[in-house]
Amino acid sequence: MNDRAQKIKEKDLKYVAQISKTPKDIIADFGKGCTLHTIDGIEYLDFMSGVAVASTGHSHPKVVEAIYKQAQKVIHANCFGNYIYEIQTELAELLAERAPGNLQSTFFSNSGAEAMEGAIKLAVKATGRKKLIYFQRAFHGRTYMTLSISSKRLYKDPFEPLYPWAIEVPFNDIHTVRGVINDDVAAIIVEPIQGEGGIRPADPNFLPALKATAQEHGALLIVDEVQTGIARTGRWFACEHYNVVPDIMTMAKGIASGMPLGGFIASKELMSVFMEPTLIHCSTFGGNPVCCAAGVATIKVIEEEKLLDNARERGAELIAGMRSLMGKYPSMIKDVRGRGLLTAMELATSEDAADFVGKAKELGLSLSWTMNAGVNVRISPPLVITKEQVTKGLGIFETIFKKSRK
Ligand code: PLP
Repeated sequence: MNDRAQKIKEKDLKYVAQISKTPKDIIADFGKGCTLHTIDGIEYLDFMSGVAVASTGHSHPKVVEAIYKQAQKVIHANCFGNYIYEIQTELAELLAERAPGNLQSTFFSNSGAEAMEGAIKLAVKATGRKKLIYFQRAFHGRTYMTLSISSKRLYKDPFEPLYPWAIEVPFNDIHTVRGVINDDVAAIIVEPIQGEGGIRPADPNFLPALKATAQEHGALLIVDEVQTGIARTGRWFACEHYNVVPDIMTMAKGIASGMPLGGFIASKELMSVFMEPTLIHCSTFGGNPVCCAAGVATIKVIEEEKLLDNARERGAELIAGMRSLMGKYPSMIKDVRGRGLLTAMELATSEDAADFVGKAKELGLSLSWTMNAGVNVRISPPLVITKEQVTKGLGIFETIFKKSRK
């Protein structure tokens, strides 16, 4: 670590809230496409994209230009009353054109958790009910409500009592859902591919069965696409793989290439529940025009650069490569899962996964594990990743497995 990096690290320790005992030593200086460069001159191949966020790669010139142009015009005017941001209407239109079925009306938030909060408020207000069904290993955020519908006890226990009407059931188990649902349930909340739960896709029939079960009981289906949405899995939204139109769908992470933006989309009719009383739901910064400009540019870049195809093709190469490694190192790789560029390798233990992430870092590859299932190494590179970069990453994986062979 050079002098400048050391000084930054000291300042961070002194003035920035510390939330982990893991020593911090990657000080990002600049990024381009799939690579990140640190203040002390190290280059990383980024197989994480800040957890599925830097969708168009780091500082894509068209996203940067859109941010700059909007910032020159207006950064903030007002978020309610008689104010409209033109760029927000443009983004909402692009989302409505790409979202499935009758999902046409978007409320913009600043983050994934806030999008989930709003989606739940909408479901509770629309149904007049309080019960929520969510799934084991689910992760939906860290606010009080989203903690209530996330599964990790370690993160929930210190804050109990949480929302008392949230019921946890096993993922991919429709029989249990049918056993617990009744006409008091406002919503079933599900990730189409559990992200922090270990990149665990819903079974092919699970989402359609959830939609039908919710409908039978007058409950709503909320699909959390915060991690899976905006082309990450090779479709605009992962629920498209299941031919399911949720009642409410949330999004965030990849929507604006790293600018803080989230949202939830529903039919015009359902969203109209928020008309009364005025301002029952609102956010000062949600849908900020600079973030929306980044969102519009992100969608355009995804289309111009055919990143949906790239996510499918590079994702298939990654999965094939990891499966081939699993054949060679079966005692180390227990499973390979994923869709598009949201993939994971399940290793034997959480220690193995942490060790793998550490060794990858030493070899210039940035990776992470998944929070609610630490045995999994998540591979979620920017959607602009090239074939050569996939091959390079897989080569680093093999080097690590070869050296670790017991
Ligand atoms: N939902 C899912 C599926 C997520 O993966 C996350 C974050 O990892 C969230 C919600 C919360 O998003 P945020 O961290 O932007 O609040």
